[in-house]
Amino acid sequence: MDLNSLTIHALSEKLSKKEVSSVEATKAYLERIGAIDDKIKAFLVVTADEALRQAEEADKRRAQNNNVTLLTGVPISVKDIFCTKGIRTTCASKILAGFIPPYDSTVVARLKEAGAVILGKNNMDEFAMGSSTENSAFQKTANPWALERVPGGSSGGSAASVAALECAASVGTDTGGSIRQPAALCGVVGFKPTYGRVSRFGMIAFASSLDQAGPFTRDTIDSAIMLKAMAGFDPKDSTSIDAPVPDYLSEIEKGVKGLKVGIPKEYFIEGMDVEVEASVREALKILEKEGAVLVPVSLPHTEYAVAVYYLVATAEASSNLARYDGVKYGLRVNESRNLLDMYKKTRDSGFGGEVKRRIMLGTYSLSAGYYDAYYKKASEVRTLIKNDFETAFKACDVIATPTTPTPAFRFGEKVADPLTMYLSDIFTISCNLAGIPGVSVPCGFTKGMLPIGLQILGKPLDETTVLRAARAYERAAGGTLQAPAL
Ligand code: GLN
Repeated sequence: MDLNSLTIHALSEKLSKKEVSSVEATKAYLERIGAIDDKIKAFLVVTADEALRQAEEADKRRAQNNNVTLLTGVPISVKDIFCTKGIRTTCASKILAGFIPPYDSTVVARLKEAGAVILGKNNMDEFAMGSSTENSAFQKTANPWALERVPGGSSGGSAASVAALECAASVGTDTGGSIRQPAALCGVVGFKPTYGRVSRFGMIAFASSLDQAGPFTRDTIDSAIMLKAMAGFDPKDSTSIDAPVPDYLSEIEKGVKGLKVGIPKEYFIEGMDVEVEASVREALKILEKEGAVLVPVSLPHTEYAVAVYYLVATAEASSNLARYDGVKYGLRVNESRNLLDMYKKTRDSGFGGEVKRRIMLGTYSLSAGYYDAYYKKASEVRTLIKNDFETAFKACDVIATPTTPTPAFRFGEKVADPLTMYLSDIFTISCNLAGIPGVSVPCGFTKGMLPIGLQILGKPLDETTVLRAARAYERAAGGTLQAPAL
């Protein structure tokens, strides 16, 4: 029995039938991590002892039938952006090297409460800034389907760990595509909920008006299970939405008969990879065969999304990252002449190149004299992008697009040119600017066996319909349970 490749729901069934224990499943994953993570490098920290302790606890809970959920005893991993009590949390930055949070983020606390076992912390781009995980200060994560290629980013370690069968699921964050893009590039399901659906408390801030946490899973059913456990109002996050969390599983198999799927012409652009386009068009045909009605829609301000995002996100980042000054957290360079010198030296040696670039861009666009021309203008265009979606959703229930314009690229291919790197986010960014939910679901491979993703976007707080549409595709296409040969 290959425990490592099971979905959450399949493993959960085996746990409930006592065919396997959580300790056994946890050991199987820890062994897998020990055997292959040298190649993949998806983990920054593996918390083996703590995981086994949690697994024993979960087995007890199941034996006593005490507060059992579908996640009780299921081994997962989390991006190193989530604070974990007593466990090193660095956001893949040298400036947080040695930082041990005194509390759990709400996401981690809720998953633990549901009984999930946390195997460790995943590699990522430093402070979640990037699309390839090459910006980690510590290591490069490989794409499990092609070791010389990137897993996407910024949640590359999370996506790779699920694809490489090192955990049953993982949790990442998506500020401008960082869940959906790596999910597409690694051939797993990645879900970004509505802004405010999942608490940001204890999740290290990048761009606070865009950041949102969500799951990486092997299928859409698992996505629904993870989301249910993570979502819901949290008084500790002022932007958390006080709305009931539906039972996402209850409608997931409803199918798409009569569902209107909007196809935005702005998302099928010239220069896009031909195999990606062909796979996505094929996926749309499958949705149509399942009874969906494809309707053309327009999102006319899409062309401004990348520019708007890189102004808004960098402005917020420059403000959020001001707290890393050598006084409160992590790194401090002591060989300094005075306080200002200490700040400068600490920030200079603690932050990587991309983070510095963003802080400079953001500081510039927020500064007096430039604020109106850049930050304010970007915020106004952001509203136009949001309005585009509102108009489009009058004519359709969900919107389907490719997740990325190309499959996984090679290490180093885009590092020298930040602009080409930024363009790899072209299809994922608008969703964050508008605050709406979106999923990437695997929709086939290139001839070279690189995964391709179909993106489905939904109305605010309508995660249920997004999951339902994604599930209908996944079921009709024959499931997504594929694993790379490693
Ligand atoms: N790739 C985008 C960036 O570099 C998005 C990152 C994210 O969603 N965290 O900012």
